Amino acid sequence: MSSIKRAVGAFLLWEIVQGLFLTLRVMFRPKVTLNYPYEKGPLSPRFRGEHALRRYPNGEERCIACKLCEAVCPAQAITIEAEERADGSRRTTRYDIDMTKCIYCGYCQEACPVDAIVEGPNFEYATETREELFYNKEKLLGNGDRWEVEIATNIALDAPYR
Ligand code: SF4
Ligand code: SF4
Repeated sequence: MSSIKRAVGAFLLWEIVQGLFLTLRVMFRPKVTLNYPYEKGPLSPRFRGEHALRRYPNGEERCIACKLCEAVCPAQAITIEAEERADGSRRTTRYDIDMTKCIYCGYCQEACPVDAIVEGPNFEYATETREELFYNKEKLLGNGDRWEVEIATNIALDAPYR
């Protein structure tokens, strides 16, 4: 009996009909995928993306060259050199991050007493060469200028939980 059922099923292409019916049913369900890069999903305010060095609203660098981020970095990805300015303030003359070493732990951001180094919301910074991932101070300050609005918003949203 079962062999007759199988023969009839094969003759009527029953499995193909079942497959088409399943396709038809799924076609009308809400989509669970995104059409990246044209559509993007929401990001948590705690998202740890590309690093940035921030400035104060008057344009002054936040970083005071305390080197806590350099000391805490478990990957030893940060290199800082600093000197005193004519006005007596201390600022970095070099601030490099080797992004090929970084493990995105966020410790540098946690350690910073003035919210200068942060991991911003940008996750689209793939490069074609390793050299492009050796970030210097100019690159990091540029990231800060570019993402300041989003970074400040995320810090404010996360503040009640800290
Ligand atoms: S996120 Fe972690 S590994 Fe990357 S630079 Fe900061 S402290 Fe170092
Ligand atoms: S980024 Fe923050 S922790 Fe690192 S040297 Fe500057 S002030 Fe210190």
